[in-house]
Amino acid sequence: MIICAQNIKKSYTTKSEKITVINNLNLNIYSPEIISIMGPSGAGKSTLLHILGTVDSFDSGNLTIESEKIYPHKDYSKFRSKNIGFVFQFHHLLNEFSVLENLIIPQILLSKDKVSNKNIALGLLNDLELIHLKDRYPNQISGGERQRVAIIRAIVNKPRILFADEPTGNLDQGNSTKILELFNKIKNKYKMAILIATHDQSIRKFANRNFLLRDGVLKKK
Ligand code: ADP
Repeated sequence: MIICAQNIKKSYTTKSEKITVINNLNLNIYSPEIISIMGPSGAGKSTLLHILGTVDSFDSGNLTIESEKIYPHKDYSKFRSKNIGFVFQFHHLLNEFSVLENLIIPQILLSKDKVSNKNIALGLLNDLELIHLKDRYPNQISGGERQRVAIIRAIVNKPRILFADEPTGNLDQGNSTKILELFNKIKNKYKMAILIATHDQSIRKFANRNFLLRDGVLKKK
């Protein structure tokens, strides 16, 4: 098991009210698998991804990632760069660097071995059939290609789990399908767990388990 989340609770307090977004939620994540999380805007999908990804704290419950107990409010940045990858709706590639350089940058935090870092990036581009883009800059490739590069960037440090928040939200159906096929390939090739928050119904073809986030808990779809 990669992640074990038990009775996770999270509320936000604003000036006028307290809203409970995640309410005693339970989820075990194994590898390899793809899990989809659907739900209307505001249901708490991003909040859940951030909690499970150690970016956001939680109020109560137990969270274990890769056998490590996670405490709310502790800094997990190093743990995160080693174990967890993130993909967002917008790619966040650095425009002044080539595709290859964009894939090398996240590795520098963990290893200063330039040759090895470059070889890992080239290996992934080869495996995932985007090697022809290596010397181009983000503004010289299409939106769909940028998102595929952003996904590869999220796995350069070989995390065990990848979180994707509306990864196809900004793309047409053809490109969305390519993104989902890439996730599937990554799951099978690198035996990863991938959690995708999405409105894209075509995810059902690729996901091993589908959930609806409603009233702060996950319901099987
Ligand atoms: P989703 O990703 O499903 O659209 P979010 O996780 O972004 O949902 O948001 C869930 C709810 O929590 C929403 O009602 C949102 O307004 C609220 N929320 C999110 N972040 C904060 C915050 N930092 N402070 C207060 N409320 C927040």
